[in-house]
Amino acid sequence: MPRGRVPRQPVRTGRQDKVRAVHAARSKSVGEAGALARPSRGKASAAVPKGRKKSAPAAAAVPRNKGYNPLAPERVTEILSRLDHLYPAVTCALTHSSAWELLVATILSAQSTDVNVNRVTPQLFRTYPTVEAFAALTPEQLEPDVRSTGFFRNKSKSVVGAAKKVVAEFGGQVPDDMEKLLTLPGVARKTANVVLGSWFKKAEGVVVDTHVHRISRRLELTTQDDPVKIEQDLMKVIPRDKWILFSHQIIWHGRSLCPARKPKCVDCPLENLCHAGDKTWSTVDMHKDAKV
Ligand code: SF4
Repeated sequence: MPRGRVPRQPVRTGRQDKVRAVHAARSKSVGEAGALARPSRGKASAAVPKGRKKSAPAAAAVPRNKGYNPLAPERVTEILSRLDHLYPAVTCALTHSSAWELLVATILSAQSTDVNVNRVTPQLFRTYPTVEAFAALTPEQLEPDVRSTGFFRNKSKSVVGAAKKVVAEFGGQVPDDMEKLLTLPGVARKTANVVLGSWFKKAEGVVVDTHVHRISRRLELTTQDDPVKIEQDLMKVIPRDKWILFSHQIIWHGRSLCPARKPKCVDCPLENLCHAGDKTWSTVDMHKDAKV
């Protein structure tokens, strides 16, 4: 065959094979070093001294938190009992005198504070004293009255929409049923749980607001970030007869001692049960994953 017509073949000197072997060895050692530099939770890791053979790494690894179960019934019971001691008779902080007023106040409290909502609602309920009075409005007419609570366009739409539905489908009475409440505009599980728990005294779930979300994670009662999943986790570990009180207590705890920034851990009676990674003071081991 004439020269130049032969397809090019890999050179058979073995040089490439040597380079490949060196790369493979390098990446293996980098991988091992990386794994040692980033110890994962629950696994002890230690650098192997030069010259010494690494022996049986998997069997020797000791979980960091061996024996610690944040959901152990005795731990959860102790948390609940300390909360009972701290906040014995707390209730909903939103001013209201009927299920409808509580529903409106809860809708308005989204992304706002209870103090802020309580500044607005007394005058609001004087101006529109019944659910029928709200149902006769357009969202635009309500906007100026709820403007200071933030997100006022959406909130006006939800309140007026809920009023129209309560009047048209439930005879002017706020339903005491989770499924029916969830059909109202602007009402998700949190709002429905507030109305069912605080007004109707029905424990259908746990209210998961921003405080319950944050503190349940700090106390390792959940690792979830989604309120619905957090609620499911809490319903598994907290006895049903505590669901209503627990959320009130945690909300008060969030306001008084355990805010998002700079929790007052030194004054907190739950301190030695809390391993939150963002504690400001601690007598116990802190867990990176247990934080806001
Ligand atoms: S110890 Fe600190 S972070 Fe833990 S619950 Fe108490 S205030 Fe919150």
